[in-house]
Amino acid sequence: MVIYDLPDRTIKIKNIVLDFNGTLACDGSLLPGVEQRLKSLAERCNVYVLTSDTYNTAAAACRGLPVTLMTVDKNAGGLDKERIIDRLGPENTAAIGNGVNDALMLKRAALGLLVLGPEGSAVSALKGADVIFPDILSALDFLLHPKRVVATMRP
Ligand SMILES: [Mg+2]
Repeated sequence: MVIYDLPDRTIKIKNIVLDFNGTLACDGSLLPGVEQRLKSLAERCNVYVLTSDTYNTAAAACRGLPVTLMTVDKNAGGLDKERIIDRLGPENTAAIGNGVNDALMLKRAALGLLVLGPEGSAVSALKGADVIFPDILSALDFLLHPKRVVATMRP
């Protein structure tokens, strides 16, 4: 668990849910620097990777990583992702994504982080997010450094 002690509330994150393509990966391959950060986060939280697996590469890319990979529906993945957040407990879950099918989960999670990755980001996802990042590494580092969360999210 990671605890973010904000002046007006305490956020306790037990689960981190990540989109794969456009968030952790570009053209189906993990972006450089992601692997190490996922390992650090997995020491403190349960890490889930949710994907429609457009390139059919997610299983190979995540092999050996301390994450649970879950495939969502190719046509209604957004609802699947939202359901998974609900099942995990939205108040203890942070989500990171970039696409249309991430909009609902970003809105639902206690911390919704939008990544402006090399594959672009959907405006609907942006509208559901709490914080926006120029790349995935800064989003993962944000979660790894509680003071960054406090500095950005304090009222
Ligand atoms: Mg995506």
